[in-house]
Amino acid sequence: MARLEPALSVVVPIFNEEAVLPLFAARLRAALDSLAEAYEVVAVDDGSTDATPAVLAGLRRGWPQLRVVRLRRNSGHQAALTAGLFRARGAYVASIDADLQDPPELLAEMLRTARTGELDVVYGVRSDRSTDSPFKRATAGLYYRVVRRLVGNSVPAQAGDFRLLSRATVEALRELPERGPVLRLVVPWLGFPSGEVDYVREQRAAGRTKYSLSRMLRLAMDSITSFSAAPLRVATWLGVGGVVLCSAMLVVAFVAYLGHYTVAGWASLYVAVLFLGAVQLLCLGLLGEYIARIYVAVQGRPSYFIGSDSDDATEHAPVDAAEDPHADDVLTVTTTPGPRTPR
Ligand code: UDP
Ligand code: MG
Repeated sequence: MARLEPALSVVVPIFNEEAVLPLFAARLRAALDSLAEAYEVVAVDDGSTDATPAVLAGLRRGWPQLRVVRLRRNSGHQAALTAGLFRARGAYVASIDADLQDPPELLAEMLRTARTGELDVVYGVRSDRSTDSPFKRATAGLYYRVVRRLVGNSVPAQAGDFRLLSRATVEALRELPERGPVLRLVVPWLGFPSGEVDYVREQRAAGRTKYSLSRMLRLAMDSITSFSAAPLRVATWLGVGGVVLCSAMLVVAFVAYLGHYTVAGWASLYVAVLFLGAVQLLCLGLLGEYIARIYVAVQGRPSYFIGSDSDDATEHAPVDAAEDPHADDVLTVTTTPGPRTPR
């Protein structure tokens, strides 16, 4: 690798953002050019199906620091972020959303904070989310309360995926065997010295959110099950509670039997059966969540596939393409993250 390492890499996960990309690129470029440091922007096109690839290609023509990594299929925000982090070359690697909800101008302050405080991680903390919908704020509030209880208070509340990482942190992440980690929890868990920079969450500049309710639920479920076995204990505690309750009921039943107070008892039986059925299903579902995680881990499939990287295309495309059995053109490079290779 003869290439000079930039001081800063900025990773941007992008999925169908044709509307906002030109605005974003203009603001990001102005912010980064004013840094007077060598930088690269790693735009991770997460399998967009709109004009995003064309917009990125157009931007690249006039912006040599822009690098475009395309994933072969839509793999989700976290996977796209991971792909970008692992491909970035900078001494510091920042990640930012493409929709201008995170102000690019703050990157300079993050870099300064990291350098002056000798910090490995600087979180962008949303001090004001008034532009988010009440529903988003309420669910986000609950999410952070739960994960902070489960993972620990090293997880900053209201810190999403707008953050700056040192090279050492990125390498530590790369060494984790976990596929598709929830970065906003794994990064604090690594325990590097960290700081925070406050900012006001802006409104999405254009386009629509790519986070549906089901994706939010998925992220919440992954966050909890990847860090805690506490939900599994719910079954145990429900079982203990059930035994205590049943013992009391047995005494009541026995007394009633002795006193000849026994009546039809349809309602109580009905309620008990429904309740127990629901509890059992809940516990089965919880077990299922963990088994699903084991299943995914055992399969060992990568959480994303690199389709192309504009840097590889210009630097060493023939070598990589020759090694790659899936390559159907010179631009296609198959690389998998982490130490394992897919079977
Ligand atoms: N994103 C992505 N892949 C996806 C969904 C989203 O790369 O499958 C990107 C999206 O383009 C954006 C960032 O992740 O840059 C955050 O998404 P979004 O703004 O839609 O989420 P929200 O801010 O509404 O939670
Ligand atoms: Mg957004």
